Amino acid sequence: MYDHEQDLNEINTRLKKDNISFKDKNILITGGAGFLGSWICETLLMQGAKIICLDNLSSGQWDNVKHLNSNPNFTFIHHDISIPIYFGRTMPNAVSYPNISEKLDYVMHLASRASPFEFKNFAISILKSNTLGTMNALGIATAHQAILFYSSTSECYGNPPPDQVPTSEDYWGHVNPIGPRSCYDESKRAGEAFCKAYELQHNINVHFVRIFNTYGPRIRSGHEFGRVVPNFIHQCLNDDPITVFGDGTQIRCLTYVVDEIEGLLRDAYIPEARGIPINVGNDKMISILDLAHLIKELTDSNSKIIHKPLPIDDPILRQPVLTRAKTILNWEPHTELRDGLSKTIQWFKETFDK
Ligand code: UDP
Repeated sequence: MYDHEQDLNEINTRLKKDNISFKDKNILITGGAGFLGSWICETLLMQGAKIICLDNLSSGQWDNVKHLNSNPNFTFIHHDISIPIYFGRTMPNAVSYPNISEKLDYVMHLASRASPFEFKNFAISILKSNTLGTMNALGIATAHQAILFYSSTSECYGNPPPDQVPTSEDYWGHVNPIGPRSCYDESKRAGEAFCKAYELQHNINVHFVRIFNTYGPRIRSGHEFGRVVPNFIHQCLNDDPITVFGDGTQIRCLTYVVDEIEGLLRDAYIPEARGIPINVGNDKMISILDLAHLIKELTDSNSKIIHKPLPIDDPILRQPVLTRAKTILNWEPHTELRDGLSKTIQWFKETFDK
């Protein structure tokens, strides 16, 4: 059995060691019904925070948070953050929630589709979530004098040359501004620029992390969502062909969701993380072909590996430098890939066999 409670407890035990607690804090989480957002909602509720989960349920899923809805500290708002929204007061041309009148302490902006498979069909809404959505989240943070936490991405680095891998936060990126990934990469970069602009002009306390490939229970499955880990698990469990793009020599570093959520919450909380990007991801590398073999082994599958064309601008090599994460956040990933994948596979079996 996959033990979700144990994973949540693990995050909180680790945070407790450094007295990181959001107890009694009022926290707005955009994208709160998504993969990472819903883990954050649960972790913070366990700590005694009061959560407003805002999601338009386009890629986020009600199933991820419906069990939280009876908790008096949890409020769900069905809304797209790229449309202005205000809490505690009314504003012209904006959706207002005057009945939610308590001051917010944190605004955490996680709303955005993130799968390369979605970049074609949802390019405009992805651009809006990370530009207009970030601006609106910053507007709320400004009105409440709250800390703004923004989930940026390793995609800000684009496809760095080999001498820039592992990649530190000082690297400015090698991004194709008009390529098939640009709706995500460039809008995430613009989101960082919005954070810095609000910091400069309004002295807003902004925190932002660059998230590297993350996997675990609740990651969306189904071919149209297309992240490599859920794709391979789904294919292996069904004995379907495993679709390796290109020759599979491209490298990724995969972070288990428990490690990632711990890192994100440390970043949001720790004052020294203010105003600077920090890589949060694993630095252990694996090729996509080796990943295919590993998932095949762990699922005891009869699937065959097949090769499909490598998508345009697919990064060849992605690995973070973790110096800032280690020194500023006192964070590093703990979960072995085999262990994280085994838990994820178990969750897939229990969730999709129901
Ligand atoms: N990939 C693959 N087969 C799939 C899905 C993805 O070989 O069915 C590859 C993809 O081309 C990329 C890597 O796996 O090189 C990671 O892809 P993912 O979509 O998970 O995230 P990315 O790192 O590209 O944002």
